[in-house]
Amino acid sequence: MNPQSNLDVLAIAAHPDDVEQTCGGTLIRMAEMGYRTGVLDLTAGDMGTRGTPETRVAESEAAAQHLRLAWRGNLHMPDARLQNDIAARMSLAVKIRELCPRVVVLPYWQARHPDHYRAGELGYEACFLAGLKKLDEYTEPHRPQKILYSSLYADVKPSFIVDISAQFERRMQALLSYASQYGESSEGATLFPNEREIRERLGAIARFYGNQIGVEYGEPFVIKEAIRVDDVVAMPVRSI
Ligand SMILES: [Zn+2]
Repeated sequence: MNPQSNLDVLAIAAHPDDVEQTCGGTLIRMAEMGYRTGVLDLTAGDMGTRGTPETRVAESEAAAQHLRLAWRGNLHMPDARLQNDIAARMSLAVKIRELCPRVVVLPYWQARHPDHYRAGELGYEACFLAGLKKLDEYTEPHRPQKILYSSLYADVKPSFIVDISAQFERRMQALLSYASQYGESSEGATLFPNEREIRERLGAIARFYGNQIGVEYGEPFVIKEAIRVDDVVAMPVRSI
C-alpha cells in the first residue's frame, strides 16, 4: 500500500475500533464501489484497560482487511488526553496533504468521550490548515471537498443515512478483530460487553437508523452545509 496515493475517503478517528462502530459500513460500501478508502487512528489506545497499544494496532490492521481499506495509519497521539494543540494540528494537516482525501469523515463534535469530540475539532482545523500553501515546504496544499461527521455516538438527527444492510456483517467481523477488547476475558469483564451483547447493541442501533430510510441497517452522518438536490422526483425514502 502506498501511503502517498490519493484516497477518495479518509475516516479520522480517536481510537482503533471507533470506525468499526461508527462509519465502517459506509467505508466498506465505498470500497465495494471502487473508491480508495483509508482510516487514520489518532491514538493507539494506550490508556485502555485491556490489551497493549501494539496489540490494538495489530488488531486494527486485521480489521482493515475486513473493512477493505486501501490504507490505515496511526499517529500515536496520547490516548484519553488527546489535545487539539498546534503540534497535533500540524502533524494531522501534513498527513491530510500526503493522503489527499476527497472526503474526510470525522467524529461528530459532541460526544461523551472527550477524545471523540476533540478528534472532530482537531480534524476540522487540520483540514483547514492542510489547504494553506505555506504550511510546509515538502507537501502540496490540499483540502477535502467534503467533511462528514459520523454521528453515531451523539443523540442528534442525521443529515443523511447510508444503507449498510449488505455491509453490516462484514463491519461486525472488523469489530470482532479486536479480540483484546471484545473477546471473552476475565480482565475487566464487568466493563466490557461480550460478543453477543455487542452484536445485539450495534445491531439495534443500525436497525434504528436503517428503519428511518426504509432499509435493514443504516449509518447516520451530519454535515454542516445544505444538501443540493437536482431532481425532487427521484428522491429516495417515502414521506407518507
Ligand atoms: Zn473511541
